[in-house]
Amino acid sequence: MKHVIIGNGPAGVVAAETLRKLDANAEIVLAGDEPEPPYSRMAIPYLLMGNIAEQGTHLRKDKDHFSSLKISLVNARAEKIDTAARSVKLANGDTLAYDRLLIATGSHPVQPPVPGMDLPGVHTCWTLADARQIIAKAKPGARVVQMGAGFIGCIIMEALAARGVQLTVVEMGDRMVPRMMNATAGGMIRQWVEKKGVRVHVSARIEAISAVDGALSAKLSTGESLAADLIISATGVRPNIAFLQGSGISTKDGILVDDQLQTTVPGIYAAGDVTESIGFHSGLPQLNAVQPNAADQARVAAGNMAGNLSQFQGSLAINVLDTLGLISTSFGQWWGESKADGGESVELVDAEKFRYLSLQLSEDVLIGATSLGWSDHVGALRGLIQGRVRLGPWRARLLADPTQFMAAYLGAAQGTA
Ligand SMILES: Cc1cc2nc3c(=O)[nH]c(=O)nc-3n(C[C@H](O)[C@H](O)[C@H](O)COP(=O)(O)OP(=O)(O)OC[C@H]3O[C@@H](n4cnc5c(N)ncnc54)[C@H](O)[C@@H]3O)c2cc1C
Repeated sequence: MKHVIIGNGPAGVVAAETLRKLDANAEIVLAGDEPEPPYSRMAIPYLLMGNIAEQGTHLRKDKDHFSSLKISLVNARAEKIDTAARSVKLANGDTLAYDRLLIATGSHPVQPPVPGMDLPGVHTCWTLADARQIIAKAKPGARVVQMGAGFIGCIIMEALAARGVQLTVVEMGDRMVPRMMNATAGGMIRQWVEKKGVRVHVSARIEAISAVDGALSAKLSTGESLAADLIISATGVRPNIAFLQGSGISTKDGILVDDQLQTTVPGIYAAGDVTESIGFHSGLPQLNAVQPNAADQARVAAGNMAGNLSQFQGSLAINVLDTLGLISTSFGQWWGESKADGGESVELVDAEKFRYLSLQLSEDVLIGATSLGWSDHVGALRGLIQGRVRLGPWRARLLADPTQFMAAYLGAAQGTA
């Protein structure tokens, strides 16, 4: 059995290792198009802060790790899949034949259609190559403008602040992290970062970037202009699916997969940021570009590729952010459900202490949660949601005092309620 995996990020690596565990004799090829050994984008902020060297970002630190597992690493870009011939054409001219194929090509940063995005000094923060550019330019005192205050934007803010830059953030949504936090939580994150010296513009777009006197100038939709030595674009990501055109593999925004993570072409699977897999609550296809999702999907896809039937429970939002030291999380259907559909919610706000908790219930099951300033036990929120735990008497207790979620988890999830 020959397994080919395209993409050597967390999804590709976890899948390759899982396949090896399940089948000692299969041939496993892991192809990636970046020149570095497989690495974790999640580690980039620590590299920017200077807490780790580049090697610290590598997913497996032992240089013999893959060869000892008889996983062949190929450094080349997959250009085309011939599903009839069961082969992958690589940009270096080689062809890889497969019995089972996994597509784990991740996503790429969206490039907003803003004039001047291609000027020197405007960068994304997605690859190690990007990180090197940012390290070279984000010197103490440098004026940095960050486009976008979403998930990645908030994560890299701490690293930029630690580099001693003057940071201004421009977000087109009406709050920070609009796709992961509600208005109250997003507003509190904004107050927190402003207190730490970051300037924030919400409901504002960068409309044009120009080079002025050896620096950059970002023109905002509000009429203001911001001078910058470095502009970092963090305006969202999109799955890497362009090379699948004409392959017969169905895609929408990402690759459509069933609950075994098989694509519409038998024998071809997909995992990680590149998929548009069924939602945990909605049952409808959705993107979910976070690493826990990539690893979960990789294990399930690899299981099925090896012939062990395994089922994906659905893509669950698991958002954990550290924004300049303020820990925030949102899980599941954090925006809740309408009362007409059985939805009920409870909210606790302590603006002074930057603590916030919101629980969203459907009947007596927790379906979503948002927290700010809680670093302990938030895994219990995820556990309650992912386990679809029936709260029984804990429902009323949580509605009266949402801080009891850990006790509810222990009580209800372990059947002692
Ligand atoms: C700065 C930063 C911080 C982050 N922090 C967090 C965090 O704290 N928590 C979290 O959950 N997530 C975080 N993420 C997101 C997380 O990194 C991604 O969700 C995760 O990397 C997805 O894994 P993946 O294997 O699906 O894709 P990727 O890691 O993107 O790996 C895919 C690989 O496939 C390669 N590839 C693409 N096309 C081809 C092709 N045609 N042929 C061959 N190879 C190809 C790509 O170059 C890449 O190397 C962060 C991301 C960034 C950039």
